[in-house]
Amino acid sequence: MGKTIIAWTQQTWNPTTGCSHASDGCRFCYAETLSLRFGRSTLPWTAAHAAENVVLHPERLRIPYGWRQPSRVFVNSMSDLFHERIPDAFLTQVFAVMADLPQHVFQILTKRPERAATWAGPWPPNIWMGATVEDRKQVRRIAVLRQCAAQTRFLSCEPLLEDLGELDLTGIHWVIAGGESGMHMPRHRERWMDHAWARHLRDQCVAQDVAYFFKQSSGVRTEMGTQLQEEDGTLSTWQQYPTHLGYVPTAGAPARMEGMEDGAAAQDAPPTGLWADAPKPSRAARTKRARGPSAQARTQTAR
Ligand code: SF4
Repeated sequence: MGKTIIAWTQQTWNPTTGCSHASDGCRFCYAETLSLRFGRSTLPWTAAHAAENVVLHPERLRIPYGWRQPSRVFVNSMSDLFHERIPDAFLTQVFAVMADLPQHVFQILTKRPERAATWAGPWPPNIWMGATVEDRKQVRRIAVLRQCAAQTRFLSCEPLLEDLGELDLTGIHWVIAGGESGMHMPRHRERWMDHAWARHLRDQCVAQDVAYFFKQSSGVRTEMGTQLQEEDGTLSTWQQYPTHLGYVPTAGAPARMEGMEDGAAAQDAPPTGLWADAPKPSRAARTKRARGPSAQARTQTAR
């Protein structure tokens, strides 16, 4: 219980830990729950306790140099890299490591895109920058993220708390959607995701040529119900990745469990997520993607 395999990534790297709530999506933050449960934090992740809870780990900066296999790496699954308590000097070191290891894709996700938008970088192609958009109030983060110089920008619409309405996805390359999970869910029916909201997002991604990844339904356990329910009740798998820069995602992720110590890297993991010197997709391929994958193709991407 409390362990998570995050489907859209392959490893986590936490050069900092701890955080404080930024918006309603943080209300049942799994990182806070795990940290309090395992004694890594002793105080709730409120703004008042941020000084105690946000911890820098300079000793972890060199961990990615030990990974032999190219991976997608979720940076700060247990924190927020752009939290105001993290000094610029430390951020500079984290970015230097990521820029130094182009064989990996580093996926940063923040609820503080304002700082990311003004961060000078470097922003090489292997650093993807995402912002959480969990409800209509946070749709404003899309415009902020668009100002970031990252070459791949993505949205994590998880926990998806309501229909987000009509979105302008200009400058956005990837959208992840998913419902909230956790032991609290039976007591909080108001936070359950309606698949119609996720379908609305999917349809807008298809129409605007944005890669779409449906991660999970709401539930007690995470990463359950990984298929999107269509209007007619059938299920489909949507696990697309942004490929506009020639990134070639492959399945067979070296899964890491949330809450594990960094350093137990996937040394023996199969090769995955290789960059290709591939030409840009043809017009025909782009058109095909805009129409959405066939049922067979959707199934194949899930393998
Ligand atoms: S920003 Fe992320 S890590 Fe920080 S409290 Fe919110 S959900 Fe948790």
